[in-house]
Order: sequence, then structure tokens, then C-alpha cells
Amino acid sequence: MLAVIYLRVSTEDQAREGYSLEVQEERCRRRASELGCKRVEVFCDDVTGEILNRPALTLILERIQQGGVDYFICFDPDRLARKLMNQLVITEKIEQARVKIDFINFEWRDTPDGRLFYQLRGSIAEFEKAKILMRTSDGKKKKAEKGMLTHSPGIYGYGYDKETDTLWVNQEEARVVCMMYSWVLEAGRGQYVGPYEVARRLNDMQISPPRGPRDKSKEAYWHRGTVRRILTNETYTGTLYLRVEDSTGVKNNRYRAPEEKVSRKKRPREEWCAVQVPLIVERQIWEEVQYRLRDARRIKPGMSIEQYLLSGLVRCGAPECGHTMHGNRISRRSRVKDSIKYYRYYVCTAKSPGITGVERCRSSSVPADRLEKIVWDKVSGWLTNPQVLAMELKEQGVGENLKLLEEEIVGVRQQLDAASEERARIIRGYQKGIIPEDEGDKILIEIKERVERMEKRLAELIEESHRQQLLEEEQLAFREAVDEFAGRLQELTFEEKRHVVRLLVDKVIVEGRNVVIRGRIPGVLPGGSGLNNSEKVLDNGNFTLRGGPVDHRHTNGRDMDAIQRVVVG
Ligand SMILES: [Zn+2]
Repeated sequence: MLAVIYLRVSTEDQAREGYSLEVQEERCRRRASELGCKRVEVFCDDVTGEILNRPALTLILERIQQGGVDYFICFDPDRLARKLMNQLVITEKIEQARVKIDFINFEWRDTPDGRLFYQLRGSIAEFEKAKILMRTSDGKKKKAEKGMLTHSPGIYGYGYDKETDTLWVNQEEARVVCMMYSWVLEAGRGQYVGPYEVARRLNDMQISPPRGPRDKSKEAYWHRGTVRRILTNETYTGTLYLRVEDSTGVKNNRYRAPEEKVSRKKRPREEWCAVQVPLIVERQIWEEVQYRLRDARRIKPGMSIEQYLLSGLVRCGAPECGHTMHGNRISRRSRVKDSIKYYRYYVCTAKSPGITGVERCRSSSVPADRLEKIVWDKVSGWLTNPQVLAMELKEQGVGENLKLLEEEIVGVRQQLDAASEERARIIRGYQKGIIPEDEGDKILIEIKERVERMEKRLAELIEESHRQQLLEEEQLAFREAVDEFAGRLQELTFEEKRHVVRLLVDKVIVEGRNVVIRGRIPGVLPGGSGLNNSEKVLDNGNFTLRGGPVDHRHTNGRDMDAIQRVVVG
């Protein structure tokens, strides 16, 4: 005789006692042999009993249709289905094929009483299932209402502490998140840095992407969708919303027919539960990014949105900070009219990420108009003194230096050739017996030491000549900029200004009330004796220029004391 055994285990009842796959199989096999079945075929599903369209269930019913099956053995009617209707449909199919049904946990009798009892039991199982669902969802709801998580939300930038059900900040990832947000914000005029561009930059920088949602392995690249999810995730502002969507039954969709699929439903906002989590992105920045992403299509080339002349160049000079200061628009409600005015600022990046464990930067933000004016005045000052600069460049004599270096390199190479010639001669003399052994050794050691000294010198010379070549290229670019822009400084477009600033300025460091401008061409800028209002101070061998005090008034009419002095160094 042949028995087919149907087993089913799903995640929801795996933990329940007596329902493990092993127990089900062992008991069913024992029953089969008690019934005198020598042959057994086992079918096993790992899908919830709510679904009728289960792979193994379909197979076992097909097997029964083929004939030759005497018994259908199952641990419990609830393994067949959670819903009474479905239990009845399945048992009817089995009976139609004249196969006897046997349950371990239930005595199946093919009588009216037996059927009634079977139906009763089925409806109780359905009721219990509904109760379990209610209980787990109630438990989750209660936990969420208390501001507690029930499982890891899997958000890049956070780790999950299973002991306390709380999130902690993954510093490394949080920094990447902040960087992504600031890229979107710092986009220049007519530029749009969106998910695609952000993903490209992250891949360029070879930053590893978050774990994929399905497989636990790391994905190889950042995808646009991943980036968009991060850029629009409100959790980074310090509040995680739970119970936003009702996804009951969604995970079993793959077993459902297309018309039976359950879709996620968004719950009304008042049903959401807010959980406080560590903040990574300031609310204002987050909202600004949403605004940019939403209005991406409206930003066309040439259109004026906030533009930051010094974007990427400004560093925070607060003690032990040194983070980038990024351009940011800050809104203020105007007192006169009931309207919102926007002001451009440079803000230290370490001010915004409230990364736990990292001291938040206390530096004040700098009005962008003021800072840009200070830097631009200096830069245009350098450009309007081309004679002085030309003199400086000539005094530096980069071209001359390069020529001398190349001559010396040729000389050292010749000496090296001569030394190896000499060495060969000694060895030949050795072999012919002309030079005594101990004397020859002494000479060879001396040659070896000389060669080592010369090779070291050669390496230094080559490195220095590379450095000089770079210097020459930079100076050439600088000369070109002088020729191209110096005559029409008043008419430069934003892009041209930005190009000039980038060419001449390496860094702008905001140290409280001082601004330090670091020139890019070493040894040449700054240091021009023709620059106005400046004194030359020799500090550790580097030239430092100190500018005069700066106008305190901010463009919006308020007193502005963030910047009082310019230090160019
Ligand atoms: Zn700072």
C-alpha cells in the first residue's frame, strides 16, 4: 500500500511546540507503517496555510489524481489550511479520488457527525489564527506606541540593538548619508545633483553600498533607487514612523493569483507611531533636499537657484573640527511683511549631523555674501596686479630651475655610467690576476657606496623636477587666467568667477572671526609685495599676509560680527 504524507511548516508556527517538520514527518511515517503502508511519499510546504496555491499541496493533489494512493496522512487539519472553506475543498478532492484520510491529531470519521466535528474544528482553527494575528499586531502596536521598535528597520546609517530594541548611529555610514545630502544641496546654478549623480559619485569613491533588502550579501554598486530611498527617508531627522503601511498578507503574494494579490495600504497619518531615534540630518536640510528632488524638473540650465562660489573650498576652523562648510539656505520669517526670506550661509557640516559620540561643532554659520565678497576681493586683487605677479613668477624662476635640474640629472646619469664602467674594469683585472684580491674588494666596495649615493641623488632630482613641472603648469594656467579675466573682472559670469577662485584658492578656513585664504600656487601666492593693506610676516618659513579689518555690516542690514579680519596665509 502507498501513503502520501503532507507536511507544512511556516515561520509563524515553527516555534510552536510539536509542529516542527521533523516531528510531523516522524509521526506521519509511524502512522503509515501502523496502517500497513510499505511505500511512503512525502510532500512538504513552507508556506502559510492561508494560501491554497501551495507548491507541495498542488503536487500531492496531482499525485492523488494519478491513482494508486491508499492513504493521505497529515499531522493536523490545520496543516491543510487555516481557513475552514479551504480545508473542506482539499478534503473533498482527496475523498473524490477515493483516498482514505488520516490525521495524527484528529480522528477523521466519514460520517455526518464526523464531518460536523471536522467543520467545527476547522472553524476553531480559523478563529485561533485570527486571534494570533490580532495579538501579534496588538503587541507590535503597543510597543510602537511606547516608542519601541519590534525589529530592525534596516536603515542605512543606523545599527539595531536587539537587547534594547533601539537604533544606534553607525558613524561611518552616517557620514556618507550627510555627504549625500550636502551634495544635493551644494549643486551650483542650473545644476541638479540628484540620485543618479549621487550614486555615480559614491561608486567613484568606492564606498560600499548598503546591504540588499533580500539577500544579506553586499551589493556591488549604489543604485539610483537606493540613493533615492536614503535621500527621502525622514527617519534621519530623528523620528522613525512605524505602522505607516498596512502590509498584512503582502508577503504571501507570490503564491497568489494576480487578481488575488494583496496590496500595501497606507494608513492614515494619525495611526502612525513615532519612535525617537538619533538624528543624522537636520530637519531643515532634509526638507530642502526634498524640495530640490521634487522640483528637479523645474530647475533648468541658467535658472537661478542658490549658488555658492566657494562650494567645496570652505573649511571650519573651529578647534578640532576642520569639516567642510557647505552652502545652505536658511529661511527667516520677515517681520515687516508676513513672508519668508531666504539667506545664504556657509554652515559647518559637523553642525548638522547630530552623531552621538561626536561633539557637535559650535562654530557660527557664515553669511555667504560676506565670505564670498572677502574671498573674491582678494582674488580679484591678485588678478589686477598682473605686473607684480609676473615679477613674482619671474623671481621664482621656475623655468630656470627646471633647466638646471635637467642638466644635473644628465650629469648624475653620466657619473653612474662611468662608475659601472669602472666596476667592470676592476672585475676584468681581477679575473686576469692583474689586481690583487683584497685591493680589488676595497675598490668595489667604494664604487658600490658611490653608486648608492648617486642613485639617491638622482631620485631626489627627478622628484624635484616633477614638482617643478607641476608648478610650471599651474603657473601657466594662472597666467592664462590673468590674460583672460583680469581685464573684465566686473563682467565675469558666476561660472567664470568660480573657475578663477578654484584656480587661485586652495582652501578658505573660517576661524571664528578670521578668514584664512590659502593660495594654490606654492611660493608665489600670496606673497606679492605689491598687494594693498598687507604686511609680510615670516612664520615658520611660510609667508603670511594679514589683511585689514572688514566691514561688519551684513547685507541684510544686521550687524555681522562673524567676520572681522581677513588673514591670508
Ligand atoms: Zn566645525
